[in-house]
Order: sequence, then C-alpha cells, then structure tokens
Amino acid sequence: MARYTDAVCRQCRREGQKLFLKGERCYSDKCAINRRSFAPGQHGKARKKLSEYGLQLREKQKARRYYGVLEGQFHHYFEMAERKAGITGENLLQILESRLDNVVYRLGFAMSRPEARQLVVHGHFTVNGKKVNIPSYLVSAGDVIAVQQKSKQSEKFKVVAEANANRPVPAWLEVDRENQSGKVVALPSRDQIDLDIQETLIVELYSK
Ligand code: SF4
Repeated sequence: MARYTDAVCRQCRREGQKLFLKGERCYSDKCAINRRSFAPGQHGKARKKLSEYGLQLREKQKARRYYGVLEGQFHHYFEMAERKAGITGENLLQILESRLDNVVYRLGFAMSRPEARQLVVHGHFTVNGKKVNIPSYLVSAGDVIAVQQKSKQSEKFKVVAEANANRPVPAWLEVDRENQSGKVVALPSRDQIDLDIQETLIVELYSK
C-alpha cells in the first residue's frame, strides 16, 4: 500500500504546527517546527493568504497526517461518520480516535502514532485476548487492549513504559501499566479529543 515516504517533519512544517510524529524528538529542541517554522520548499517562506477551499483542504490534510491515514481511507471514514447518528465532524474524529494504532499510542505503549502503527503491524498487541495486527482496526467500548505476553519483556516496551510513565491517558481509556494493558471505557466525546482540528471545515470540504 502507498505510504508517505518523504521526511516526516516536512508534514508538520507544511501544516505549521507539531503533529508529534517522531516521539521524543518532538518534545526536544531538535524539532523542525522549533528550528524552521516555515513551510518546506522553495516558496515556503512566502506568506500566502489561503482561500476558503485552501483552509478546508489544509484542515483535512492535517487530520489525515495526525492519524497517518491515506486519502481513500479518510474519505471512507467520512462516509461512515455521515451514516452515524449525531454530528458528522465529531463522528469522524471519534472514528479516527478508535483506530487501534491511535489507542495504543494514547495508552502510552508507543512514543508516536507512526511507531504505534509499526508495533501493531508487527503483532505486539491483542484485543480481548486475540492477536490483532491491523492498525486501522476500530475498537469498541469495553475492549481490552494488551501487549502480547511474549513482547512484555522486550527492551523496546521497557524503554517506552519508562518514557511514558507519567504521560496522561485520556479519560475514555483506562490503563494498567503494570500489566501493560488498557481498556476502552467509552468511545471519546469531542471534548475528550485534544487535537487542534476544526472538523467543520473538513465536513464543508467533503460536502461541496
Ligand atoms: Fe513534527 Fe516531531 Fe518532526 Fe517536530 S520533531 S517537526 S513535532 S515530527
């Protein structure tokens, strides 16, 4: 499947804000947003006034990049959100948050969403006791996500556990750090999703 292969930090520079795609580096002085806070490319420093369409497009791209989702799948999520009862934009964010790779990151079992994606693909997690290696798997309320028994002692998970020992976990999730597992208490409401995304702009874009 096609994936973004260019330098990861360019995505943050394009959106003009941190998307936290690289783990610890994102919190350090080495973050490209701290060092070169202008868009990448030859005309990156030029100030551009965005059209209404441009603003909507940027918001959609930012959301896609936060969650590491390709265009086709993102559009599929939008269609799912439209079919659900409630507010489409909020439904869309809730669906994105329910992805297994995002939940693994939110529980503190990975340093970033891209790393969580990789760990899931490599089969390090179970959902309700069964191995799941699909990052786009959508969790439901009550699901229990755990690090595979044989992965628990690996150096990787020890380092991540140490680094994330004090990282807050959102209220819609419950973590058991000792057993390296977590539970989805309920799917998140909009106010529990702390990302700077104006979902109404995305809805406007797809509604044209
Ligand atoms: Fe984005 Fe992290 Fe790179 Fe900073 S270090 S630009 S937050 S990916």
